[in-house]
Amino acid sequence: MLKNDQLDQWDRDYFFHPSTHLAQHARGDSPNRIVSSGSGVYIEDRDGNKLLDAFAGLYCVNVGYGRQEIADAMAQQARDLAFYHAYVGHGTEASITLAKMILDRAPKNMSKVYFGLGGSDANETNVKLVWYYNNVLGRPDKKKIISRWRGYHGSGLMTGSLTGLEMFHKKFDLPLDRVIHTEAPYYLRRPDPDMSEAAFSEYCAQKLEELIQAEGPDTIAAFIGEPMLGTGGIVPPPEGYWEAIQPILKKYDILLIADEVVTAFGRLGSMFGSEHYGLEPDIIAIAKGLTSAYAPLSGSIVSQKVWDVLERGTDEFGPFGHGWTYSAHPVCAAAGVANLELIDRMALVPNAREVGAYFNAQLKEALADHPNVGEVRGEGLLAAVEFVEDKASRTFFDPSKKVGPAVTSALARHGVVARAMPQGDILGFAPPLCITHAEVDEVVTATKRAVEETL
Ligand code: PLP
Repeated sequence: MLKNDQLDQWDRDYFFHPSTHLAQHARGDSPNRIVSSGSGVYIEDRDGNKLLDAFAGLYCVNVGYGRQEIADAMAQQARDLAFYHAYVGHGTEASITLAKMILDRAPKNMSKVYFGLGGSDANETNVKLVWYYNNVLGRPDKKKIISRWRGYHGSGLMTGSLTGLEMFHKKFDLPLDRVIHTEAPYYLRRPDPDMSEAAFSEYCAQKLEELIQAEGPDTIAAFIGEPMLGTGGIVPPPEGYWEAIQPILKKYDILLIADEVVTAFGRLGSMFGSEHYGLEPDIIAIAKGLTSAYAPLSGSIVSQKVWDVLERGTDEFGPFGHGWTYSAHPVCAAAGVANLELIDRMALVPNAREVGAYFNAQLKEALADHPNVGEVRGEGLLAAVEFVEDKASRTFFDPSKKVGPAVTSALARHGVVARAMPQGDILGFAPPLCITHAEVDEVVTATKRAVEETL
C-alpha cells in the first residue's frame, strides 16, 4: 500500500483529472479526496474518515456501494467471457438480456437499445441517429439541434456544444454550428418576478417557437432536454412546462431526445423521468443508473418510429456505420442485469419516491427560512439548495465569493458529501436510492449546521 504522501505526489505528478482547476490541483490546494472503499450510502477515504455520500458519486451509484451481487455477476462474466464484440449482429447473453430488461421498463413505443459506455457517447450517438434519420427521409437540411441553457449533455465535441453551461464551452471553441440554445426552465431566475409558474412555462414555449421560426423549421431536427435539469442547477420543470413544449415540437416535426442519464431507473421516484413528467420522447439517453456505475455503460433507446427509418436506411445505404469496440461490453452488461434486478428486489424506485418526499420536506423545513436560501427544490432523490445574497430582490452572490463550495466544504467536515453545482451557488443532493429516513436526517442536520456556520 502506498503511503499518503507518496499518493499525493503521484497524483499531482501523473494524473490529469477531468473537470478540475489544473493549476490549483498541481499546487496541492484543490479540495480533492482520495477514496478507498464504500458500503451502502457511505464511503471511506484513505485517512479512514467515513462520509455519507449524498451525491452517489456523480449521481450514479444508485444501489449504493459494496453490492456483492453486482461484483459477483461481473466476476463470473469476466471468467466465462471477458469480451466479445457486438458488431455485425454478434452478441452475448448478458447484452441481449439487458436490452430486453431495459425495454421492459422503458416508456411505451420504445423499440431498441444501442449500447455505449457513458452519457456523452450516448448523446453523440443520438445526434448521429437524428441526422441519419433525416437523411434517409430526404431532408438533408433538417439538422440543427436545440438544447437549453443550463442543460448538461456531456463534454464531447457535439455533446459539449449541446451542454448549455459556459464552463464547458470556454476556450474549447464550442458550441459547434448546428447547435442552438433556448431558455432554461429555471423559475427562480424568471425574467419577471410576478410571473406564475404556468406563465413562465408559456414564456419558455413562446421563446422556443420564436427560435424555431427564426432559424427555419425545416432546419431543426431535434430538441434535447433532461426531464429535470441536473448539472445546470437541479431544477424541476415549472408547472406546465413539458405540456407547453411538446406540442411545438410535434407541430414542426422536431424529434424529442430525453436525456435521462441522471433520471432513468428511479432517481425521481419513477422508473423514467419521461414517465414522471409526461414526456413522449423519440430517443432516450441512459447511463449512470443503468449499472449504478459498477461498470461504464450507456444506451440510446430508440422509438419504433425512429427505428423503422433507420432500418429502411440500411436497406438503401448499406450497414449502419457507427460503433464502439466496447458497445455492449459483456462485463458491463452483466453489471447492468444484476443492477436492474437489485433495483427491483430492493424496491428502490418506490423508496426514492417515499424517502425522496421526506428528504425534500425535511430540507425545506430546515432551510427554507434562512435569509440566504433563495430556494429549496427537488423531486424524488434529487434536491438542491440555492443561496442568494438577498432573498426579496433575488440578488445572487458574486461568484468570486464561492459560497456554494464553502458550504460544501463545511458539510464535508460534518461527514456528508454533497456537490457544489458547477454554475451558481447551488448545493446539490442525489444520494443512493437506498438511503433511509435516518440517513436523510443525518444529511439534513449536517446541512443545516454547515449553512449556519458559513452564512
Ligand atoms: N447527460 C446528463 C443529463 C448528465 O448528467 C451527464 C453527466 O453527468 C451526461 C449526459 C454525460 O455523461 P458522462 O459523464 O457519462 O459522459
